[in-house]
Amino acid sequence: LTVLGIETSCDETAAAVVRRESDGSAAILSNVVRDQLDLHRRYGGVVPEIAARAHVELLDAAIAQALDDAGLTFEEIDAVAATAGPGLIGGLIVGVVTGKAIALARGLPFVAVNHLEAHALTARLTDGIGFPYLLLLVSGGHTQLLAVEGVGRYRRLGTTLDDALGEAFDKTAKLLGLPYPGGPEVEKLAKDGDASIPLPRPMLGRAEPHFSLAGLKTAVRQAAQQRAPLSDQVVADLCASFQEAVAEIMVDRTGRGMALYLDQFGEDAPRQLVVAGGVAANQRLREALDRLCHAQGFTLHAPPLALCSDNGAMIAWAGLEHFARGERDDMTAEARARWPLDPDAPPAIGAGV
Ligand code: ATP
Ligand code: MG
Ligand code: FE
Repeated sequence: LTVLGIETSCDETAAAVVRRESDGSAAILSNVVRDQLDLHRRYGGVVPEIAARAHVELLDAAIAQALDDAGLTFEEIDAVAATAGPGLIGGLIVGVVTGKAIALARGLPFVAVNHLEAHALTARLTDGIGFPYLLLLVSGGHTQLLAVEGVGRYRRLGTTLDDALGEAFDKTAKLLGLPYPGGPEVEKLAKDGDASIPLPRPMLGRAEPHFSLAGLKTAVRQAAQQRAPLSDQVVADLCASFQEAVAEIMVDRTGRGMALYLDQFGEDAPRQLVVAGGVAANQRLREALDRLCHAQGFTLHAPPLALCSDNGAMIAWAGLEHFARGERDDMTAEARARWPLDPDAPPAIGAGV
């Protein structure tokens, strides 16, 4: 099976081709990502209207490039998948309309993909793992612990009550005067810093594996104000201290998630932890989770960096997983700004979806 994937939910315009052989092995044949950072940077964040227009301008060429890199024509594609949500509605509409147009023109099946599910299933593309597994999803818009029982079957164990982890990184970076997106900047500067500045660890030790991350950013702001004017060294120390607090919180919360996962699936359940989403690129977080996994007898599956942030390969793969099960969408499929992975879960207070 060979699937073309289209991603336009935020500020990456991406297209990719992924193939699964009959023996189950999978390969990324191409993975084109056009980020729009230069368009958004001066606003300090993604401007939805600008992003949507840029997707219109960039997407056709990204798709052509993805086919070209893969050495394939539309005739050799079995299905077209596009992110239908959640995300910025303008961009989502561009991707869904483009995907449906290709499907219609080429007589191909169309699959509407949930962007979070694509993050969630990436480890099956890269590591070939089976179900179930525990997922720590840490991205720009989401921070959740989920039990992944199968394709389309997600049980939420914990979620953030306020900011997402990527958002906390971005806001912390912004208040320290660092450019957008802040996550990679904070990580870079933290390497030269000392984690010596005391910051809180909200929710540590709580039984339910929920998160609260907004207070951390406020604590960084106060610590920064007390130390103004900020030297480069203090900025680096603040970045390192923030990152350490994050690592400690994530380890504690994920440890609780592991216990809950084993409660629900039994002690003999596969001890697999997947970390996915843009913040999964953070090396300090990966290290900390790796240590936790060692201690708890879990294996850690973290996608390669290029597949942590938004990309088309994960969309193509999620589309392929559904299509392989005989599932497809028709031309009434629509973009949706909100689309929770686990529709039955009660909405968390103040959480994104
Ligand atoms: P969602 O997937 O929830 O819809 P999104 O697609 O916008 O949101 P991603 O692209 O998955 O989010 O992740 C982007 C986020 O990851 C940004 O907040 C960015 O700062 C953060 N990020 C990227 N690299 C790193 C890093 N090395 N360390 C920390 N955070 C990072
Ligand atoms: Mg992005
Ligand atoms: Fe994402």
